[in-house]
Order: sequence, then structure tokens, then C-alpha cells
Amino acid sequence: MSTTLKNYINGQWTRSKSVTLLEVINPATGQSVAKVPAGCNDDVQDAADAAHEAWQAWRNTPATQRVQYLFKMKQVLEANADEIAQICTKESGKTYAESKGEMIRAIENIEVACGIPTLMQSVFSEDIATGVDEFVIRQPLGVGACISPFNFPIMIPFWFMPYAIACGNTYIVKPSEKVPMTMTRIFELLESINLPKGVLNMVHGGKESVDAILKHPFIPAISFVGSTAVAKHVYQTGTANGKRVQAQGGAKNAIVVMPDADEETTVKIIVDSAFGCAGQRCLAASVVVTVGEASEKITEKIIRMAQSKKTGYGMSHEVDMGPVITLESKERILKLIQTGIDEGAKLLLDGRAVKVTGFEDGYFIGPTILGDVNVESLVYKTEIFGPVLTIINVNTLEEAMELINKNRYGNSACIFTRSGSAARKFRHDTLAGNIGVNIGVAAPMAFFPFSGWKESFFGDLHGQSSHAVEFYTQTKVVIERWNEEWSRKF
Ligand code: NAD
Repeated sequence: MSTTLKNYINGQWTRSKSVTLLEVINPATGQSVAKVPAGCNDDVQDAADAAHEAWQAWRNTPATQRVQYLFKMKQVLEANADEIAQICTKESGKTYAESKGEMIRAIENIEVACGIPTLMQSVFSEDIATGVDEFVIRQPLGVGACISPFNFPIMIPFWFMPYAIACGNTYIVKPSEKVPMTMTRIFELLESINLPKGVLNMVHGGKESVDAILKHPFIPAISFVGSTAVAKHVYQTGTANGKRVQAQGGAKNAIVVMPDADEETTVKIIVDSAFGCAGQRCLAASVVVTVGEASEKITEKIIRMAQSKKTGYGMSHEVDMGPVITLESKERILKLIQTGIDEGAKLLLDGRAVKVTGFEDGYFIGPTILGDVNVESLVYKTEIFGPVLTIINVNTLEEAMELINKNRYGNSACIFTRSGSAARKFRHDTLAGNIGVNIGVAAPMAFFPFSGWKESFFGDLHGQSSHAVEFYTQTKVVIERWNEEWSRKF
């Protein structure tokens, strides 16, 4: 019988009050590996109560002491990285190397958040009038929450949580119901760092838990990462309920290849970007826009390199690409490939029939490439979120940029070129939150803020580093007068 996962509330493992259980499926085998509660209002209520109760004592704990827990958190994750990565691969399907990569990004965020005693500092102006000083202090907001997607079960909660608690907030993590085991194991391991009860809580579930978080009066700040439709819902409902919300949404990222680009580097990086994590990365290359003769130079090479990528079980060392997350996802992606063909695209590489020996029930799709894609077609406009790359050819850099700028999404855009001026123009005028120059995945490094533009993001402050600190604190301006004569009178 598979395990039923529990919530972690007020330092205790507690059974959900939800009566509905969902299966957690290993996408490589199609088999259930655990059951997770569908979530409910009462679970969120309990977690919010515990976090609210713990908040006053936690915010009065000096920042220098709060970060001591983060130093221990880093050590716990480092010491257990292999086990956590294995669980991540089991439930998400990504390769073990990709799961280990996530661990590194999560740990880097803890490291940056350890600098909170400095990061929370603010400004001071002496003598704004005679004997009067003015300064800003940053204070925590209360209970924060993050709602995360399936594709980075380890990393994404760490874009927010370490900063929030280091700033003196208490916190609730709501993992994706498709991959809840990884965060559950992380919370089990984190028990050893002895955070005060209620500072860090976890509730499972899907829409019901999310909607309860969005309405709860004790939760003033919410970080969301997921699809654009849900990001919009979370942003609109959360802000309508008076909360601050940062909601990161979907993507359709383009890589522009100029005729002067270094072929070898470009081809290798494009294939890694498009097919890493089976294309289920919000920064994955989804469209390659070749400019002029770049098309002849690289298209065939991209196909050959993509063909050499091995699809299979993520724990096997020789595998480059695991399955997609669910059967529904697989069916949706296969349907989109067929739609693309029906819309007139050329099927340059067909990964639809891939079979993995020993894993016949897994949700595998091999690398697939569509050429001559029409920019008005559904396959061009839709976020596929799978191992499907589309290729388009245009005549000029300006045309390529116009295509990117017209797209409803703006998560990332990359250019491959040897020309500094082309790169500069691209960086300056492209409407996307992350730009790569001779880089295929403009990855979120912990010491920089991270998020997209347009329908890839709703809110103001992004995740990670200085933005996470600003998001999880509110500023108070103080003006003070101290008169020497008053002291003398005593
Ligand atoms: P999703 O939107 O289906 O789910 C995200 C979270 O929202 C989950 O925790 C889920 O439980 C919850 N949820 C789902 N449906 C809901 C609903 N109707 N109401 C309330 N809550 C709901 O996303 P996903 O499929 O888990 O993740 C893939 C998506 O995330 C892709 O679109 C990808 O581009 C995006 N993503 C974006 C970034 C980024 O930084 N912009 C990073 C990673 C993933």
C-alpha cells in the first residue's frame, strides 16, 4: 500500500482534513508511488493559525539568530542531496543530474538569504532639519506562502521561503500535488534544525488549498509560480483580497540565431535548452528563429544532435531526457504536434513513437522538431511545455525581434551572434524579463531577481535576492528629534 502524505503544521505531521486523495504517479512507470490529500480550507486554516501564532516571537528574534537556522538548513540539504534528488527524479521524471542541479540552485538561495542582516539594512539621513534625523526600517509582514509548480519540486520554494523567514516572517509552503514527495522529505529532514514550531509549515493539495490561501486574512504575502491562467487567477484573487502577490506564469521562449553565430556552440546549447528536463522548463527554448543563412547552417545540425539525445528512465546514467509529467500532458503534447502538422509545419524530427524498454507505461516523448512553422498557427502561439522545438526563418534581426515582442509571453529571449552591436540592440529592445547572449537558458541565479515580463509575470517585485527581501518586508519611515536641552532638564 502506498503512503498517504501528511501536512506539516506547528512542528507536527498532521493528517489532512480533506477526504479526497490524489495519486502521485512516477511518470517513468505510470505507477502510483504515494497518495496526497487534495487539500481543504481547514488545513490552510490550521497552518495559518500556527504560523500567525509563531510570528511575534520569530520577528523579535534577532536577524543574526534567524540566519543561524539557514546555515543549518544549507548543511542538511547538502548532506542529503543524493536522497532528495532521487525522490525528485522518481516523482517528476527528470534525470538524476537535473534533480541534483536543482539542489544547487536551492542551496544558493539559502546562502544568499544568510546575508539578511545586511540585506535588510536601509537608509538613514541625518539632519533633515535642525536636530532631526529620518530613516527607513524594514519589517516583516506576517505569514507568507508559496504555491509552486511541478517542474522544479526542489528549487522553486527556495526562491522565496529562505528570504521570507530570514526577514522575520513565518511561512507556508504548498507544493504541487503532482510532486509532493520531494518537499515532504525536505521538511522531514529540516526537523533536525529545530526551527521554533509554526515558523515553517507545509500544506498539500491543489486548487482548494490555493483558494484558501488566497482568502486567508492571516496571509498577507503570496508567491506563485505556475501556468499563466492560474497565475492570473492567483494575482487577481489575492490582490482583490488585499494581499501582495507575485505570480510567475508560463512562457514561450525564442532563441534568435544570427548568420555569424558560432555554429558548434549554438547547436549544442539550443538542443540542451529545448530538450533538457523534457522541455518542461519555463526557460526552455521553444522557438528557434534563424536569421538569413543561419537556417542552412544550423537546422540540419540541430536535428542530428537532438536525434542523438537518449530518452529514458531518469535514474539511468546514460539518459539525457526523462518522460513528461502526466499521461494528460503526453496526450496534450502529441495532439499539439499533430495540430502543427495539420497547420502546415514540416515534421523535421518525430519523437512520438519513442519506446523505452522496461518502461513501456511511462509518459515518454522523444525530441521532436517542427520546421516552417506559421506564426499565426496554434502550435506557434501555445506554450507546449514538452520536448518540441519549432523553427522559423526570417530575413533580419528586426523581424526576429518583432516576433518576440508580439508574443503574449516574455519570460526569456536569447540571441546567438558574434556581433556586439546585434547583441546590444537585442538586449536593449527585446520585451522579455531575462535575456541570454550566447546563452541558451538565462537561468535564475540566486543573487539576482528572477521573473518574466508580459503574461509571464503578474506583480511588481520578482523572486530571489533583493526583490525577495523587498517583497517579504514593508518599510516604515521614522523621523526623530532629540533635543539636548531636554536631557539637561532631568
Ligand atoms: P499549474 O498552474 O497547473 O500549477 C501551479 C500550482 O497552482 C500548483 O501548486 C497547483 O496545485 C495550483 N493550481 C493548479 N490549478 C489551479 C487552479 N485552477 N486554481 C488554483 N490553483 C491551481 O502549473 P504546472 O503545470 O504545475 O507548472 C507548469 C507551468 O508553470 C508552465 O506554464 C511553466 O511555464 C510555469 N512555470 C513558470 C516559471 C516561471 O518562473 N515563470 C517557473 C516554472 C514553471
